[in-house]
Amino acid sequence: MAPSRSPLSRQSIVDAMTGLLGPAAVETRDEQLRQASVDRFRKYTAAHGIYDGPIPAAIVYPGTTADVAAVLRFAQDNLVNVVPRTGRTATEGGLETVVEDSLVVDGSRMNAIISIDPVDMMATVQCGAGLQQLEDTVRAQGLTTGHSPQSKPLAQLGGLVATRSIGQFSTLYGGIEDLVVGLEAVFPGGQVARIKNVPRRAAGPDIRHIAIGSEGALCFVTEVTVKLFRYQPENNRYFGFVVEEFAAGIDALRELITAGYRPSVCRVYSPEDARQHFADFYQGQNVVVLVAEGPKGIADATAEAIEELFAARPHRRVGEERIRAWFENLNWGQDKIDAEQADMLAHARLGYTTEISVDWSRAAGLFAAVMGRIRGEFPRAGDLTMLGAHSSHSYQTGTNLYFVYDYEIRCSPREEIELYHKPLNAIIVEEALRAGGSMVHHHGIGKYRTPWVADEHGSAYWLLTTLKQAFDPHGVMNAGTIFPLKP
Ligand SMILES: Cc1cc2nc3c(=O)[nH]c(=O)nc-3n(C[C@H](O)[C@H](O)[C@H](O)COP(=O)(O)OP(=O)(O)OC[C@H]3O[C@@H](n4cnc5c(N)ncnc54)[C@H](O)[C@@H]3O)c2cc1C
Repeated sequence: MAPSRSPLSRQSIVDAMTGLLGPAAVETRDEQLRQASVDRFRKYTAAHGIYDGPIPAAIVYPGTTADVAAVLRFAQDNLVNVVPRTGRTATEGGLETVVEDSLVVDGSRMNAIISIDPVDMMATVQCGAGLQQLEDTVRAQGLTTGHSPQSKPLAQLGGLVATRSIGQFSTLYGGIEDLVVGLEAVFPGGQVARIKNVPRRAAGPDIRHIAIGSEGALCFVTEVTVKLFRYQPENNRYFGFVVEEFAAGIDALRELITAGYRPSVCRVYSPEDARQHFADFYQGQNVVVLVAEGPKGIADATAEAIEELFAARPHRRVGEERIRAWFENLNWGQDKIDAEQADMLAHARLGYTTEISVDWSRAAGLFAAVMGRIRGEFPRAGDLTMLGAHSSHSYQTGTNLYFVYDYEIRCSPREEIELYHKPLNAIIVEEALRAGGSMVHHHGIGKYRTPWVADEHGSAYWLLTTLKQAFDPHGVMNAGTIFPLKP
């Protein structure tokens, strides 16, 4: 899709926003605008203060759904590109402002927890409510959202819905698509759509999915209602097993899941990946991590099935406390983001990830194919300090593979993405598609997996482009995200 081109000057866009929302809701300081032009895909250049792309005209902070509607109406009328954002943890370029004089519409001041309903088991929040804030609030009432992405301390509900995020306990609770009951979103032109909260319905296609995973390219999510569950950590049982082959670990997960068990956590780490988490016990092998959770009877039955499964398989057992302690330090807050930035600057090195999904029968083969291709054909393989993967979310029919790669950067900061990140990402995406899997399991397409979006969807791709044409006919929503940007 071709990007919109506004006839308005930068200053008149800022003036219009100030008129609509008031000066306190309009940010135009240079450094804030520069930082708003990228996300964590460009974390290395950003750490060096390099921002080469178009810098947005302003960041605006709507306070209400009506504010969002007014901004989106103005944007469509004047062909101004809008980049929605909330927690700013995006990793795939979804927050990049690739069109001149874009407006970054930041929902983080719309952060109210509107209601918590312990009878109908749902919570309604504005898009800028932090997941951690919501989780802490409901836990005080003995409840949980069941959603726990590693970015929980920073991510907010609008972004979590817009990216189709998933949490560490997904095998039991599901991804965000299983957790959203209803939502409110504003579409280009300012049209507000409220999708009501019902347990289930057969009233046509599930329209929640127009917003869930739309990555700011179709609408702005203003309000979200999510399910709640009983929080019963006293029943949790933690398991760790060391196994010789990655394929054996995958097979153990497959057997457990397809037999009908739903451990909340269900993971296997390749040796290279295990080294960075479990250096004290992995001994160069693969590590399986499982957590049985829920009402006591169910948690105990799941734990019993896990014990039986591994009794029949060669393994070394890891103490429960070691796995529990690991979980307690897994999430990323601002402290870890800051430490990573300091490390990148001090040592010219970083780590990135690419996550895909695939059927059970092809998971181990895909893992081997990616490892083989990167080691054999990536010209800078010698700069890799770590290359591995883990499976962390499993389903009846298959699993995800989360590839992780760390490297030393032996080039200028500006060259890093082209010489390292893009070719590594491309190999993983290509191999996932070749294996019949999906090129993206949970981070979203952003701007950097768009070259493969037509391959990803095949003969169904026109459904997606038709949605874009229908809801954003003037191409003002997050240009270049999900849909490749045409020059
Ligand atoms: C350290 C780290 C760990 C992570 N771990 C996980 C993980 O375990 N699981 C997982 O799924 N992801 C993970 N992520 C990715 C990221 O946290 C998720 O994609 C998260 O859902 C983004 O939420 P956010 O509020 O930060 O959104 P943002 O970063 O602000 O935005 C993300 C995308 O959503 C769009 N968007 C934001 N708000 C809105 C809105 N209100 N309406 C419409 N579109 C909007 C943006 O345009 C952008 O395309 C991780 C990221 C980091 C940095």
